[in-house]
Amino acid sequence: MPSRISAYQLKLQFDDPAPIVPGLGNLQQIADAIAAAHAPAIRLKPLKVSGHMRRTLGSFYPTLSEIRLNARLLHLGSDDEIRLVLLHEVAHAIAHHRSPKAPAHGLLFKDVCREIGAEPSKYVDVAQRKWGERTRYAARCRGCDREVMRRRRFASARCDCGVVIEPRRWQVVALKEGGERAVIGTSAPPVRRRSRWRWPGR
Ligand SMILES: [Zn+2]
Ligand SMILES: [Zn+2]
Repeated sequence: MPSRISAYQLKLQFDDPAPIVPGLGNLQQIADAIAAAHAPAIRLKPLKVSGHMRRTLGSFYPTLSEIRLNARLLHLGSDDEIRLVLLHEVAHAIAHHRSPKAPAHGLLFKDVCREIGAEPSKYVDVAQRKWGERTRYAARCRGCDREVMRRRRFASARCDCGVVIEPRRWQVVALKEGGERAVIGTSAPPVRRRSRWRWPGR
């Protein structure tokens, strides 16, 4: 859990175009209302959206007193799934506030979950598998300036104009229901493996 940001991370953050994140809707109000009712002295930072989380759906950072939510979850998850994840993280925040040394998913955490209406479990049931079908990777062609869109983050891709591009990073695009789309972050292509077959005679 990062308590401070290294120079390396800082550089990455400057390199990346800021992900376009959705409005958090009423999630901030929900978090604030629960915190006010169950832990009035808690001082939580405003919710943040992360375009870098892959498998993690949400995180509570105790040293920052901050909850971050996965941008993919916010664009591709159902309202119920988003709510479950938010409440899980708010429960972590309140449990940490009451007893900073208590185990993360221990008895105190489960009690807080029941108190605020969160699932008293370590994992939240979210159908993440389905999200893959509605995720695309986009990059701009340096030949014709059109957008090249793929289902996977290939190391290279041939545009319809014939130019082969090797994007340093792909934009991660969520295709929402109703045809709407949103850029939710960027992702580096896989590292290209060297061929196992070497040219003989070296
Ligand atoms: Zn947890
Ligand atoms: Zn092109």
